[in-house]
Amino acid sequence: MMAAGMTGPLDPVGLAADLIRRPSVTPADAGALDVLAGALESVGFTCTRLPFSEAGTPDIANLFAKLGGGGRHFCFAGHTDVVPAGDASAWSVDPFGGVVRDGWLLGRGAADMKGAIACFAAAASRFVAARGADFGGTISLLITGDEEGPAINGTVKMLDWLQAQGEKLDACVVGEPTNARQLGDMIKVGRRGSMTGHLTVHGIGGHTAYPHLADNAAHRLVQLLSALIAAPLDAGTEHFQASTLQISTIDIGNPATNVIPAAARASFNIRFNDGWSGAKLDRWLRRTLDAVGGRYELEVRISGESFLTPPGAIAALIADAAEAVTGHRPEFSTTGGTSDARFINRLCPVAEFGLVGLTMHKADEAVPVADMEALTRIYQGVLERFFSA
Ligand SMILES: [Zn+2]
Repeated sequence: MMAAGMTGPLDPVGLAADLIRRPSVTPADAGALDVLAGALESVGFTCTRLPFSEAGTPDIANLFAKLGGGGRHFCFAGHTDVVPAGDASAWSVDPFGGVVRDGWLLGRGAADMKGAIACFAAAASRFVAARGADFGGTISLLITGDEEGPAINGTVKMLDWLQAQGEKLDACVVGEPTNARQLGDMIKVGRRGSMTGHLTVHGIGGHTAYPHLADNAAHRLVQLLSALIAAPLDAGTEHFQASTLQISTIDIGNPATNVIPAAARASFNIRFNDGWSGAKLDRWLRRTLDAVGGRYELEVRISGESFLTPPGAIAALIADAAEAVTGHRPEFSTTGGTSDARFINRLCPVAEFGLVGLTMHKADEAVPVADMEALTRIYQGVLERFFSA
């Protein structure tokens, strides 16, 4: 089935180690995408480089790799950029050495998420070796170098490019390290939304001995904030925890104890479930604050809406494939921070499933070599199920 000049299926651990040896700390690529593209081309993928730039942000290298054509399109999305190694003395190995020790692959990006990228590349190579490149569908990898950074010149622009090319995705798996303790314990099927609010109250400053001549901004800020935290936002929904509002700072900056402040400020962050949208929350905030009364300014920034991939689409397929390899069924979860799945969700059903995240962003980031083999088999199982449906 293999064309002349092509190598056999890819080795996930060897490829991940090679990727770790390219210190692609955001926004640097350091040759990581060259390594990946070379491996993918050796098993039949066609690679397109998608460098993006924008004034005020670093230039970013990205990669779209595609195999097959027509039929249903399965996409794996991930990032080759990594967070810095941090204090090198806290590591027991070179963070960019790609070392295998006692059955573990160590290095920055092993878990988040060069390991999972290598597993998917290996899974695709095994799938194609077994089924042939003319299996009747399309497999792609959408790999950005800008996930850990500002995420401006990465996935969002690649998705725009894909749409401009007329590429349609039918399902997507993001290879983030979703498992909490052991491989196969958790699939992320959505994420809460996040909104940050900045509240400013204006009053009339004055002498604390003459409060009738003033309007204390601190008092009114306290009343407004009390109204915001008086009751839970909700009790949670079927697949989500309860939404939460957390006040992060209250700033008056008044060094004088005998002066009534004229202005007071506070900021808060809301993590909201699928019972809300950013716009609905904005309306709730203003209604609640208006009910207290007085002059205030509220500025909100929505960094992501909540989203949910109904368990049943891609998530059930991953759960089946994972259970077949590990013997236990993963939990569907919407916990944790944001990922690029929040952008991909606009185009097709998306779920997140990768390695175990215990060591991500830490010193001695590591994954068991056995987990990499298991994840490769799970990803291959996902492809087999997806293209047999
Ligand atoms: Zn990540």
